[in-house]
Amino acid sequence: METFTEASWYEKKENSIVKCTLCPHNCIIKPGKTGICLVRRNIEGILYAENYAVLSALHFDPVEKKPLYHFYPGQGVLSIGTFGCNLKCSFCQNSDISQNGIRDPERKALTDPQEIINEALDIKGNIGIAYTYNEPVIWFEYVRDVAKVAEKAGLKNVMVSNGFINETPGREMIEFTDAFNIDLKGFTEDFYKKHTSSSLEPVKETIKTIHKAGKHLEITNLVIPTLNDDPVVFEKMVEWIALETGENTVLHLSRYYPHFKVSLPPTEVKKLSGFYKIAKKYLKYVYLGNVADPAMGNNTLCPVCNSEVIVRNGYKTWTSGLDQQGKCKNCGLKIIEHI
Ligand code: SF4
Repeated sequence: METFTEASWYEKKENSIVKCTLCPHNCIIKPGKTGICLVRRNIEGILYAENYAVLSALHFDPVEKKPLYHFYPGQGVLSIGTFGCNLKCSFCQNSDISQNGIRDPERKALTDPQEIINEALDIKGNIGIAYTYNEPVIWFEYVRDVAKVAEKAGLKNVMVSNGFINETPGREMIEFTDAFNIDLKGFTEDFYKKHTSSSLEPVKETIKTIHKAGKHLEITNLVIPTLNDDPVVFEKMVEWIALETGENTVLHLSRYYPHFKVSLPPTEVKKLSGFYKIAKKYLKYVYLGNVADPAMGNNTLCPVCNSEVIVRNGYKTWTSGLDQQGKCKNCGLKIIEHI
């Protein structure tokens, strides 16, 4: 127990009860219990992040796998995850690590952030560290400690998150992160409440704050048949994205497959294609994910001259249509800021 790291965001209440203030659940936690995320535990009136440095996975992945399509395209990022999640999505695609708490508490392999940085620096073609696989908000302390050392070492920090975080810790998280992929799971409070046990408004606020801070932002929307595939609601969502974060915001429309508690059939490709067309009315860069045809909705076209500037096949990427500044070789339009 004493090896756990004390949580950064909580308030002490009477009778050794604590209130976690990291995410909008603001859990009131009695001694011995955890919050909704299953990994922030009250031990005798002190809140601990018991998943600190308890890694569930460590892989060197293409950045495209996060997915990030406009952030150092074609390069790789050392990706780590732990356990737990502050959302309870019935359709979770990573439920084995996100919904069970810590399965193997002895697995504290890389407690010292410098160890992971040393590993990251040893990998050729690595741009940095990605905090991913399960929700990084709920391992805030480990992300922060690793990210600060990473920044000093000249590495980039990438976060793949549901964006469900309170404003003050959210602002700190944005400061030490270079690029985000935020999962915008739907666009009604009803959907968020019923299918994720959380709420939409804080996620929208996080997205706006990331954009205002000038950090790289891409958004993913998993399209699930009957649950969040109303075209009218979808159009409102893409309209909102364009209004709040600009028409250059990258949107990934991801195909759902049955997982965890949802056994609906996979999203029809023609539904995704229809959503792609709606999104393209508002946004310049829209991609389809989890679709068998590798060429479908995966390449980057210059929005001015329509040249193919980035070609993707699976996780192989060719940027031969771009110059070294990330501009279209044909017409000179700046497309990629980070290359
Ligand atoms: S981070 Fe976990 S413990 Fe804290 S408020 Fe959110 S769900 Fe509750």
